[in-house]
Amino acid sequence: MNAICSPVEPCVRPLSEPSESLAVKAARLADCLEQDVREFLVASDQNLGDIEVQVERQSRELLRAAAEKAAQKKAEVTPPVCPVCRQPLSRVTGDHRRSFECRFGTITVGRSRGYCKRCHKWRFPADTALGLEETAGYSPRVQEMAALLASKMPVEEASTVLEHLTGVQMPRSTLDREAKRQGQRARELRRKLDEQAGLVPPHSVQPELVLEPYQMIIQLDAWNIRERQDWGRTRSLRGQGKEPERWHWVYTGTCFRLDHRGKTQGGRPVISQRGFAATREGMDGLREQLHGEAMRRGLGQAAGALVIGDGAVWIWRLADDRLPEARQRLDFYHAVQHVAAVGRALFGEDQDKLKNWLRPLVQQLKNQSSLKVVRRLEEILAGMPQGAAAQAVEKEVHYFQEHQDRMDYRAGRRSGEPIGSGAVESTCRQAQCRFKRPGQYWSQEGDEALLCLETFWRNRRWHLLFPHNRHLDLSKN
Ligand SMILES: [Zn+2]
Repeated sequence: MNAICSPVEPCVRPLSEPSESLAVKAARLADCLEQDVREFLVASDQNLGDIEVQVERQSRELLRAAAEKAAQKKAEVTPPVCPVCRQPLSRVTGDHRRSFECRFGTITVGRSRGYCKRCHKWRFPADTALGLEETAGYSPRVQEMAALLASKMPVEEASTVLEHLTGVQMPRSTLDREAKRQGQRARELRRKLDEQAGLVPPHSVQPELVLEPYQMIIQLDAWNIRERQDWGRTRSLRGQGKEPERWHWVYTGTCFRLDHRGKTQGGRPVISQRGFAATREGMDGLREQLHGEAMRRGLGQAAGALVIGDGAVWIWRLADDRLPEARQRLDFYHAVQHVAAVGRALFGEDQDKLKNWLRPLVQQLKNQSSLKVVRRLEEILAGMPQGAAAQAVEKEVHYFQEHQDRMDYRAGRRSGEPIGSGAVESTCRQAQCRFKRPGQYWSQEGDEALLCLETFWRNRRWHLLFPHNRHLDLSKN
């Protein structure tokens, strides 16, 4: 069919005809592309970017038609059985049309609908087969894009970036909703995976399968996030004598095998494979998620485990509770900060005196027994007159006494183990870049959904959520 030009309506040749085969469309596209190439050659103001945009735009219709054809054929061969209970459907009628936004534009699919007498529900089996159920009208690939972008950047930006890079239009409120739906799905899947990991009895793998004994390193930290669930309730809460809480802890952990830690040629430390857990569901949430993650990473077969963290009480409580056999180590940098606090109590703001005093102690802490450092601090305290400075030093001495067994840095260095919790701290910093932007407020549900998406991505388990990626290794951590 040829489009007829009339003087009042602009002549727009349709890009394709619905009845055209893919081969005809492809041939027509090839002609168009040849034409684009010719025009590009004479356009002195265009570079490769222009032809990239043009070729992509031209090809979109062919790709859309292929996706639509595939979806339609798949819908036609999907048997009329309930996707939930597998019961044959009754009162089946065909060609119920619905349009979906896919990676290449809008596709319309005619599907059959039937009634499940067992579930007492109307069902569209093709929607399940195509991964289109429950969505507000987006294909699995577009659902994935919404989830990934929303977990990496604010939704306002995500919507714009999505359209700019892919041509897919999704209003930001829809993108937000879609990402949260995917996040809920991710949480459900994580719960199942953690349950499975918890069921594997330790040492169930034959010892001879583990070639070299290895240590499992687990690092823990926490950071806070601003949430808005009490918004609009400030006055009523204050009326009840309560302050609305807006800052909440995100508990974070990372785990890796010591033999997966190495250095780049440039000397930068790298960890080739590591697992992450981050949650707004409190310490209980982290305990389950991190244990599941560590088990999947080989905790059950490890020769030993080491937990590293700052001085926060919850870290050691969690380690005692869930990893009672693991060794514990206080982050070296935090230990140094506490020695420095003693130095400040002694020398005030005299930086030179402080540095000269601090240097040998730090070396001693790092290379010799921490016991010597603790004894030295105790001696200093004993020789001090009563007062605020002595109180400050006493506090630090208690800190060192409490953590003394966690400060064997010399042995740690000799075994090539990390003496600091830098790996988890960098994880927290990266997460904070996403979650702590000016003016951002979150809800606990929204936070947890996005954190869960982020951990699936980082743990290279994205394909479990979006199986169309099963052959790709997209996520790098
Ligand atoms: Zn059913």
